[in-house]
Amino acid sequence: MLQYLVILLDDTSVAYCHADNPLKKRNLMPLETLRKGILFGMKQNLMIQYVFPDYALPEEYASVIESIDKVKIYPVGCKPVTGIEDGNEADVEVVNAVPEKVEAKNLVLRLTFSEMLKQKDNIAKLFASGARINLCITDVEQFSDEQIETYKKVLEEWNAVLLDLYKQGLSPQFNLLTDRMMLDKMHNCEAGVSNITLAPNGKFYLCPAFYYDEQMQVFNQLNHHQPSSDRSVGDLDNGLNIPNPQLLQLDHAPLCRNCDTFQCRRCLWLNRRLTWDINTPSRQQCVMAHIERNASRALLSDIRKVGEFMPQIDIKEINYLDPFEVRKEF
Ligand code: SF4
Repeated sequence: MLQYLVILLDDTSVAYCHADNPLKKRNLMPLETLRKGILFGMKQNLMIQYVFPDYALPEEYASVIESIDKVKIYPVGCKPVTGIEDGNEADVEVVNAVPEKVEAKNLVLRLTFSEMLKQKDNIAKLFASGARINLCITDVEQFSDEQIETYKKVLEEWNAVLLDLYKQGLSPQFNLLTDRMMLDKMHNCEAGVSNITLAPNGKFYLCPAFYYDEQMQVFNQLNHHQPSSDRSVGDLDNGLNIPNPQLLQLDHAPLCRNCDTFQCRRCLWLNRRLTWDINTPSRQQCVMAHIERNASRALLSDIRKVGEFMPQIDIKEINYLDPFEVRKEF
């Protein structure tokens, strides 16, 4: 069931997930489109998530943006410049380099795998900030089996830092390691299922990455360029029109529906890009997510040595990192 409407206020709105935003030319959503988008959200009872660019919006946008309950997603150092009150608890700050301190309650930290390794100690310092830290690796497609041990080791180091904070009575939140400990079912991105994106052109997309691909004329299958790159799934005048929506659902994803890596993003855009199938994940995504899952299991076990913690959660020991290897029917 749809719950969230993501509104990209501008073509240059900040990228906040796996895909970089390649669009560099400003293209502000017309005020009328914004109004219609909000009305669509209200009629469908959706929570609006505005994604801001890094420049001040014209004054007349402030009252429209403020006219409804919302979450604001914005680039670091750019509090949404709309003449509105400063952030609230749900606001999300996005950054592409490790900051010295965190101002928002939610930080999305977008780094390549190698940047993450270089900055691992500085990332660990953020765990005590009280903010929720969401680390998003922006080059998942480059992850190779040779990096498996390296990834395990860095997660182990972070586990030690997190354990220390738990011992001090704190509750650090770091998506890669603490989410799985709290989950007893899948909690993924759910693009096109629980959320849909409205772009400045008044059209809907499964997520911002599909809009970027359309604008860059990328067909999104191994980055092939095609004469028609339309990736929209409806528009404000005619409503949503998602082809084969069942393919976006967990129960139509043969690997994922049997998986207990509940914290995995299950990024459909990466699926489409790397396997040509929107409901088939790549080895890279599965292996990385399983390494995180197993590290969460280790952290959970260490925390339980200190005291009772999430007794209802059971993360079983497994002997594979890619579920494709253990599904005999494929
Ligand atoms: S680890 Fe792989 S199979 Fe499991 S939920 Fe993630 S993408 Fe799906």
